Amino acid sequence: MIGERIQQARKASGLSLRALAEKVGVSAMAISKYENNQSTPSSGVMLALAKALQVRTEYFFRQIEVELREVEYRKHSKLPKKVLTQIEGDVLEQVERYLVLEDILPVSPVRRFVLPEGLPDKINDFDEIEHIANVVREEWKLGQNPILDLTGTLEERGIKVFQTHALHDGKFDGLACRVNGAPIIVVGADWPGDRQRFTMAHELGHLILEGRLDEAMKEQEEKLAHRFAGAFLAPAAEVYNELGRRRSWFEPRELCVLKKAYGLSMGGWLHRAKDLSIMGDSVYIEMVKMFRRYGWHKQEPCDEYPREEPQVFTQLVFHALAEELISESKAAELMGKSLVEFRVLRKVDHASAATH
Ligand SMILES: [Zn+2]
Repeated sequence: MIGERIQQARKASGLSLRALAEKVGVSAMAISKYENNQSTPSSGVMLALAKALQVRTEYFFRQIEVELREVEYRKHSKLPKKVLTQIEGDVLEQVERYLVLEDILPVSPVRRFVLPEGLPDKINDFDEIEHIANVVREEWKLGQNPILDLTGTLEERGIKVFQTHALHDGKFDGLACRVNGAPIIVVGADWPGDRQRFTMAHELGHLILEGRLDEAMKEQEEKLAHRFAGAFLAPAAEVYNELGRRRSWFEPRELCVLKKAYGLSMGGWLHRAKDLSIMGDSVYIEMVKMFRRYGWHKQEPCDEYPREEPQVFTQLVFHALAEELISESKAAELMGKSLVEFRVLRKVDHASAATH
């Protein structure tokens, strides 16, 4: 167990066996034996290892449990196992770096995730989801306005958000899992912003629904999570304000404007209008047909909604660097950048800070 952890920390710090051995004052062979669990370092060596690798000694003993709770599939297409393994590998690597960093900071500024209070024990029908989305917004003090930065909103509340480039074929539909009990949501780094946001809200829906559905409702969980995502991004009261109570048709340009304001796709708005009975099923079907005719179900017209980016990890890296808890090269390693790239990033930050 300890062996793997030593190796992970060594790789994260970019040190060779020999380089680490020199810092610790043992032979490279000894390090290799520790890493292969063929021998156990003494407590003195353990301290030296922790110092050299810039982690706390607890890091070597803690078990990291990455448990995939759910992997999302897009419609009926199957994700090839190879792609899934690649995504998981990429995510695990990012998670590892995050945990290494959290271990370095004496006190993590990242809050532990807790479910909002006031949620009902059981959810019995789709319309209750509207109320639940409002409970979450109220508990999180989000008001009724559009959520400008959903990634930041989730990160602030202890949900780790990761993005991956390991998917390009459109079959991956987001992923949620837990690491040491903390929820993680993964979305595509190159997706349009509205798709990232809908997926994050959908995965949040799963976290909220967990344990609140009976057998029959459990079969509807995907649809319930979808409904939650829509209701969370565009609360019912706001949808009525924006669209009115009853509509017979929508101009595409109207939906473009709403998408820009709420970060919910045009298709998402149509869904909201149907779910809230603002338009009848037959109008909905006609509108969906129109979207298909123009290929808008694959790529919507008007401007794309800007992508979001997780910020907390970067914040923590620079926090640790500023407090001299990590070296510049370790910071670069954690950011997955070369030292040269990292220095450019750091300089830009200095330059922009100076102009404020
Ligand atoms: Zn789902």
